[in-house]
Amino acid sequence: TTKTRFAPSPTGFLHVGGARTALYSWLQARANNGEFVLRIEDTDIERSTQAACDAILEGMNWLGLTWDEGPYYQTKRFDRYNEIIAQMLAKGTAYKCYCSRERIDALRETQAANGEAQKYDGCCRDLPARDTDEPFVVRFKNPIGGSVVFDDHVRGRIEFSNDALDDLIIARTDGVPTYNFCVVVDDWDMGITCVVRGEDHINNTPRQINILKALGAPIPEYAHVSMILGDDGAKLSKRHGAVSVMQYRDDGYLPEALLNYLVRLGWSHGDQEIFSLEEMKQYFKLGDINKAASAFNTDKLVWLNQHYIKSLAPEYVATHLQWHMDDQKIDLSNGPALAEVVTALAERAKTLKELAASSRYFYEDFTEFDEAQAKKHLRGVALEPLQLVQQKLAALTEWTAEAIHQAIEDTATELDVGMGKVGMPLRVAVTGAGQSPGLDITLCLIGRNRSEQRISKAIE
Ligand code: GLU
Repeated sequence: TTKTRFAPSPTGFLHVGGARTALYSWLQARANNGEFVLRIEDTDIERSTQAACDAILEGMNWLGLTWDEGPYYQTKRFDRYNEIIAQMLAKGTAYKCYCSRERIDALRETQAANGEAQKYDGCCRDLPARDTDEPFVVRFKNPIGGSVVFDDHVRGRIEFSNDALDDLIIARTDGVPTYNFCVVVDDWDMGITCVVRGEDHINNTPRQINILKALGAPIPEYAHVSMILGDDGAKLSKRHGAVSVMQYRDDGYLPEALLNYLVRLGWSHGDQEIFSLEEMKQYFKLGDINKAASAFNTDKLVWLNQHYIKSLAPEYVATHLQWHMDDQKIDLSNGPALAEVVTALAERAKTLKELAASSRYFYEDFTEFDEAQAKKHLRGVALEPLQLVQQKLAALTEWTAEAIHQAIEDTATELDVGMGKVGMPLRVAVTGAGQSPGLDITLCLIGRNRSEQRISKAIE
């Protein structure tokens, strides 16, 4: 069965590029009824932090990219790596290299001067075993001659000549196993059948395949995903805007929107744009990933976000909106249910952050009017319609959208003015601003007492 993994290095937050790789890997597992492993590649102790681990897990959880195994931590697996290194030394598929730093540096310089590729010359490769306490590194005995070939799901057939590959260091002088080696042991031990990762790892792949072969391990399939560019064609980075997944949460995006955005950023199924998770699982194929780099387009993400805010169940959207209400310190104890607010405001909101901000007047009294709106619709001009609509609202036997609507309409008819001449003053009076959903639903959600108090206050 298919088993894939996402293997981030915890050196920072979960980047949208990483999230897209994770999504593709996750989908490959889910589309094939397989399993998905999360592995934290934290062997670079200098650069790895606990905060970054937490941030990655938080991002994965927020996106809903569930894993079946893990998270595994490479730093907890050193014994296992050392065990394999000892076995390889015993078998002769790896060897101890005693070359000094000076010798290696000199070799590099000569190679550079001769215009040759920089590569270890295999000096210690066939040395008889030594009994010495000189420092050494362990090198993999890369095959000589021939080539490594693999069929990449995204990029097709890729071939590397073995002569271009070094005898890779698999353990440093301090005994710490190196990155490429840990990946190999992990992919093998964890039974990974398909490796989905960034194209920046293509050069590692032939080295990893050679080590896997030396271990007698099965060779997984590979899919190397292209990078994401900003709108100026440069690699997507902070200066293009948000790159951290959690920043998108903070900015008011739904995970459904970001996932849909990311899946389409480099993958397509006909010209369909909107994909539920179910549809993604149904249609996803690694072979349909685009080889070309893709450019990030925030407008499209906003469009998807609006789509999902409007079309997902309000109760569900409310669970995400809750975070923004807390973030904006809006106390929900005194006001309508959040799902009702979602229903009322979904049509006009681009983000949940905006939606939260524009729902404040349902929960709290505002202290100031939008000055331009108040000047236009309230001051001096509105006394009569406001007083009449106040009377009519006060006379209502029930506080429903229909009844409120009727009261506004009756006021306009009686004064022989358009609905706007009543509606706009009323809107500014109860919301403080010039924009809101329909007044009937707005007053309904604000509640009777609060609406009546605000109207009185505006008339004063
Ligand atoms: N840890 C690597 C990275 O974050 C991924 C390696 C892999 O997927 O094989 O780029």
